[in-house]
Amino acid sequence: MADIKKKVVFSKEQKTLIEDIVKDESFSHNDWTKVEKKEPLQALRSYIRKHYRTEQMAKCAYCKKDVSVQSASNCQVEHIAPKEKYKDYMFHPKNLCVACADCNAIKWNRDTIKPIKSGERKRYPSSSRAFLLVHPHFDDYTDHIDIFSDRWYVDKTKKGHFTIGLCKLNQRSVDFGYFEPDEMMVLAEDLRAAKANGSRQLVGLIKDRIRKLLDD
Ligand SMILES: [Zn+2]
Repeated sequence: MADIKKKVVFSKEQKTLIEDIVKDESFSHNDWTKVEKKEPLQALRSYIRKHYRTEQMAKCAYCKKDVSVQSASNCQVEHIAPKEKYKDYMFHPKNLCVACADCNAIKWNRDTIKPIKSGERKRYPSSSRAFLLVHPHFDDYTDHIDIFSDRWYVDKTKKGHFTIGLCKLNQRSVDFGYFEPDEMMVLAEDLRAAKANGSRQLVGLIKDRIRKLLDD
């Protein structure tokens, strides 16, 4: 089951506000933080933040670490398909979630939708398949990524691999000296192979080894 079960629902007034923003000819992705639009948009952003913070049980959509339950600075409203590239999806309920400040900043404007063969995409994709990353509205995170000791991420699928790279999830721990990347890479490879071979005992042993390395 997908991580997010309930998308945000906008009131009549909020929908009107969104329509006003979007139909403005000068509308661009910068409007999200634009000064003159700040007041009504700020209330809308708080509303979105509150909804997804609760829905995601105060966990970042990408690294699964805690987001702030009080302040907005470490619980950012995140556009899953970047607003720089897809401004029409800026207020699409399924394109919104919350993320920690690091994931939001590192992910930045990288594209997360698979390119289509011909023409332009008109509607927001309605299935997991259209996305490169683990999408909180369509995917179950645990199907794609294993997390060890809160700081080592092992991909189980292509989407998992993309998401780990997109948000540099392991790189952060390497940078802070939590572990040697080479050894962990080898173990991650072994883990994948053991899983592919269906060797449960070996999977358990490798997982224990990874945890031990991280806890030392
Ligand atoms: Zn995060």
